[in-house]
Amino acid sequence: MEKIPSLQFEKEPIDKNSVRFILSNSRSAFANAWRRAMISEVPSFAIEDVRVYDNTSPLFDEILAHRLGLIPLTTGGDNNYLSRAECSCNNEGCEKCTVTLTMSVEGPLLACSKNLISHDPDVQPADPDIPIIKLASDQKVVVEARAILDYGKRHTKWQPTTVCGYKNYPSISIDARCDGCGQCVEECPCGILEISKRKVRVIEDKLDKCALCRLCEKICMNSGIGDMPAIHISTEEDRFIFNVEGCGSVSTEEIMKQGLMFLKREADSLSNEIRALL
Ligand code: SF4
Ligand code: SF4
Ligand SMILES: [Zn+2]
Repeated sequence: MEKIPSLQFEKEPIDKNSVRFILSNSRSAFANAWRRAMISEVPSFAIEDVRVYDNTSPLFDEILAHRLGLIPLTTGGDNNYLSRAECSCNNEGCEKCTVTLTMSVEGPLLACSKNLISHDPDVQPADPDIPIIKLASDQKVVVEARAILDYGKRHTKWQPTTVCGYKNYPSISIDARCDGCGQCVEECPCGILEISKRKVRVIEDKLDKCALCRLCEKICMNSGIGDMPAIHISTEEDRFIFNVEGCGSVSTEEIMKQGLMFLKREADSLSNEIRALL
């Protein structure tokens, strides 16, 4: 009988912007589908249109608009907004799909994301101190920006993740030929090996930090041990270590949840299509 997939978090409660966890009893196809769903199928807000009413700064309007577009905006999982594609306003932008933010700043000043005033308090710059433009005295910027809900698959600015990756869980074995010379301990960039009783071993609780670089195997071979190293690096095929970091627009818990919900919707839809053919 197939084992049920399970999750084990490094620390709980999980951090809003960064989470490390182990997915067990799963397959690489599922791990990769979930990773891709978290990156590109979780909706978030980002600025899409900018109207520049005044700009006497050294930056062109286009550069200013580009910088505004890359500021992460908070997007609650239970928001009632629709993406432009789902909305009936025909791409015009309405209160169901669009949030307006304004910025009116005069130098001398370093204008930051906190200078953007949103009409919806739930959709705000995720960090108040992201620099936008440095203005000298007599320089001024007045803009109106419209943020919309969309997906990372359309443009990076809608990706809620800054890091989203996984590796297979490492497995390290040491055979009887190890003489405890310690060369692999010196070579390991992650500092997870130690010598004990004239043999090398993995320091307790540090196995998951192994980077799978195999430098230990290489140095062991170079020590003239023979055709095979005494230390062997492999991976568990059904266990994965995930690292997910968010840009602040959507919480990591929500990113994980919505990624799974997307996969479920896709699987349900495929299942219905297949049933209809039978
Ligand atoms: S380099 Fe090889 S022989 Fe030396 S401690 Fe490491 S595994 Fe053992
Ligand atoms: S594979 Fe790399 S990180 Fe892992 S134990 Fe060997 S040297 Fe260290
Ligand atoms: Zn609309």
